This record gives sequence, C-alpha cells and structure tokens, in this order.
Amino acid sequence: MKIMPNRMDRGFFAYQQEFEDKALAVLRSGWYILGKEVESFEKEFAAYIGSEYAVGLASGLDALQLAFRALGIGKGDEVIVHANTYIASVMGITMNGATPVFVEPDACYGPDPEKVEAAVTEKTKAILVVHLYGQACDMGAITKIAKRKGLKLVEDCAQSHGAKWGGRMTGTFGDIGCFSFYPSKNLGAFGDGGAITTDDEEIAKQIRILRNYGSEKRYYNQVVGVNSRLDEMQAGLLRVRLSHMEELTKEREWIASRYDKLLQPKNNCFEKPLRRENANHVFHQYVIRTKDAATRERLIAYLNDNEIGTIIHYPIPPHLSEAYAYLGYEKGSFPITENYADTVLSIPMYNGMTEEEQGYVIGKLNAFPG
Ligand SMILES: *Cc1c(COP(=O)(O)O)cnc(C)c1O
Repeated sequence: MKIMPNRMDRGFFAYQQEFEDKALAVLRSGWYILGKEVESFEKEFAAYIGSEYAVGLASGLDALQLAFRALGIGKGDEVIVHANTYIASVMGITMNGATPVFVEPDACYGPDPEKVEAAVTEKTKAILVVHLYGQACDMGAITKIAKRKGLKLVEDCAQSHGAKWGGRMTGTFGDIGCFSFYPSKNLGAFGDGGAITTDDEEIAKQIRILRNYGSEKRYYNQVVGVNSRLDEMQAGLLRVRLSHMEELTKEREWIASRYDKLLQPKNNCFEKPLRRENANHVFHQYVIRTKDAATRERLIAYLNDNEIGTIIHYPIPPHLSEAYAYLGYEKGSFPITENYADTVLSIPMYNGMTEEEQGYVIGKLNAFPG
C-alpha cells in the first residue's frame, strides 16, 4: 500500500459538489477580486476564531509581514521568536527590517516562557509565538510576559486553525493573529491565501489599506502598500471548507488519538508527541521524534521501502539557514532546536485518511527494529 504524507485531493472529494458549485458561481459572477465572497469569508472567519475582525490577504507570509508593519515594528527593533519555527515566521520579521531574537522551545515545540522573559532587552518590541504543528503555545505564561514588559504579541496561526488554549482560540490572544490558507494547512484553499485576525479596529483598517496599494479610496494612496488581496475564488472555496471545520478538526484529533494509542515503538526508537497542559492540538502534523539522527535516517529509509512517505518539519532551523547567515549564528547556538531539527519526523496525517491506511502505517512503524 502506498501512503503519501498528505492527500489534498481527499479534502476536495469529501465536499466535491459544494466546491464545484461555489467555483462555478464565482466564475459566473463576473467579480473576482475583493467582493462579496471575501467580505463574507472575513465575517465568518472572524466569528469562527472569536475575533472582532479578519482581513483576507494573499498568503500567510503577507499576514506576518503586514502584522509587524501595522504595529510599527522595523529597523532597530527586536522580536523574540522560538528558534524551531518555519522560516516564514522569521521572514515576516526581517522583511520589516527588524531583528529576530531566537529562544529555545519547550518539549511541545512552543516557546519556553522563561527563556522568552530572559531574552527581553530595551530593544524588544514584540513576541511572536508559533503554534507549531497545530498545538497551542503556553498562552497563559506568554500573555503575562507581554503584558508585564509592555510588548506587542503576534501569533503565527498558520498551522493552528481551530486550536485552543484554555478554551479560547489561537489568533485571539495577541494584538494580531496571522493565518495561512496554503492548500496543505488545516483550513486550506486551492491556491495561496492568508488572513489576519484582530480586535483592534485601527489595525484591521490599516491592514485593509496596506493590502490594496495603500489606498482606502480608489486611486487615493495614503501609504506605499502592497498587493496582497485574497481573491473571490479562494474566499468562496474557503467558505465551503470553513463550514466543515468542526468535523474536519475532529477527524484529525481522532486520527491522532489512534496514533497515540496504537503506536508502540520498539526499543524506544521514537517518541510520540507530548500534549501541553490547557492546550488542545489540531494536528496539522503528527510529529514523532527519533532517538537520534541516525535512527531517523534509518526509519525514513525503512518507511520509504514500505512506500510510506514522511516529511521533516524542518531540517534546517532558520538561524542556520543560508538566508540568515548574516545574523551570525553558528551550529551549537541553540542545541535543543538543532536536536529537534535532527530528530523530528512527520508521519502521514490528513483529512480522509482511512483506518486501513493508518493501520498499515502503524503496523510498519511498530515493526521497525529501532
Ligand atoms: C505555512 C506557514 C507560513 C507561511 O504561510 P504561506 O501562506 O505559505 O505564506 C508561516 N508560518 C508557518 C508556521 C507556516 O506553517
């Protein structure tokens, strides 16, 4: 049996008729950019997240970039972020000319609050938390630090649509929540898309202006903005998917609970993901961690031989990537992060995964000699 790490086609066929009807309706409407679908999606998405406003954008990276810009963060400012994140989180900071200050993660891949606090300097303007793999960060501790130190708080929710901390949705804790609707995300479009969420009317207005060449009124440009508009087709298709988010999230949680229960690694060759207290996890990825780098290499090859695909999220932490060589970090700067990069492995997890497919993956993983 051939198992891919993700199957985006399953997500389409699950609601095929609804997606096709919506696509045709948009095509026939004669209106394709910033219209009724985007407006309705923004309202429905804000209601789903529990924020006052949502603003549709062209991507998750744009959401991050415009979030820091709207908060007035730029050259000379520092933003604290956990070093084990996806590089796009960091680009959202550096595209504004600000400096990322990395801290080590905790055992659940979120920022270690003590290390965040210790990293605050006079130049620190904001904390960026990334609800990595779909599990909410320790928002109790982080919001307290932000408040006490007078810092802005931005959430990267690109992997955490529907995840909660203390019963409250990610994307509502910070000044701004940043979402991606890249097709593989939990709430995925059929192309690129993104959004910010906020309770601050002025921020929502600023980002609406920035996404459209810096103009509120057509051809009257207040600032040098960008073109980062969510289009009507993606917004319409996202509305269809959003209407099923509850069942889609439950399905992911159910698949994860089966992995939790049935995976029994031989000789402790890998560990299952830990759950953070007060947080829930929507399993954008189900990430195991092998005993060491060599074990991961052997496990990937073994699974490959058995036609099971896996992905490493992420093999090179941002501080060691070529793009950020100018920051001057060396190997060994963040040993916990670097160890995770050497040992994490995402096993197949997607909406529409059958019990038979998952049973096959579990059987092979449990048979791996270690
Ligand atoms: C996907 C992702 C992004 C970027 O989103 P795009 O829509 O691809 O630009 C940012 N941060 C994280 C954590 C992501 O997973």
